[in-house]
Amino acid sequence: MKVTVWNENCHEKSDPRVLELYPGGLHAYLASVLECDDIEVRTATLDDEECGLTDEVLADTDVLVWWGHMAHDKVPDAIVDKVQKAVLSGMGLIVLHSGHHSKIFRRLMGTTCNLKWRDDTKERIWTIKPNHPIAAGVDETFVLEPEEMYGEGFDIPEPDEVIFLGWFNGGEVFRSGCTFTRGHGRIFYFQPGHETNKSFQNENVQKVIKNAVRWACPVK
Ligand code: ZN
Repeated sequence: MKVTVWNENCHEKSDPRVLELYPGGLHAYLASVLECDDIEVRTATLDDEECGLTDEVLADTDVLVWWGHMAHDKVPDAIVDKVQKAVLSGMGLIVLHSGHHSKIFRRLMGTTCNLKWRDDTKERIWTIKPNHPIAAGVDETFVLEPEEMYGEGFDIPEPDEVIFLGWFNGGEVFRSGCTFTRGHGRIFYFQPGHETNKSFQNENVQKVIKNAVRWACPVK
């Protein structure tokens, strides 16, 4: 299986805390989490030519993992067109955290993808579809602290499945792990993963992302 991890790689240049938590940047860290015997991982960033998402790279990608936040508008529409086409043709897409506002996610959802937001809270995630492949081996419930509050209403179309629910210590709730299908492509959105929090180091979060990549891999 071939996975491409895309990261805008911007916070890494302005906030030293990101590289302390995630040496080499979020893309390099996530690649190291995913890399294994049967998963070959490459990374791509906004700094690369064509955002690192050339026709050759997309044609050679089974699943694209997306992290972006402050530079969504720097991704050219032509790249978004190509990624959308690849998803419709069967490429899997895993959108993490603030990627909810990425051009590609909004394009595929067709809605604003707006949500409620608050900084520096405690989150408890509940696995509400434990028999789903993305939930395999994931605890029934686990805590991420600190994590950002992403709250309902979340302006997305009705997901195919909601696998994880998030609860926050302000009482807010969120559909933290949702699946969608667009054309032949499988899409999973997962809410944790603020760049200055340790969430990507959490064993359950890592399991979810690994499972999601396997689930989203196209059947050939
Ligand atoms: Zn964030």
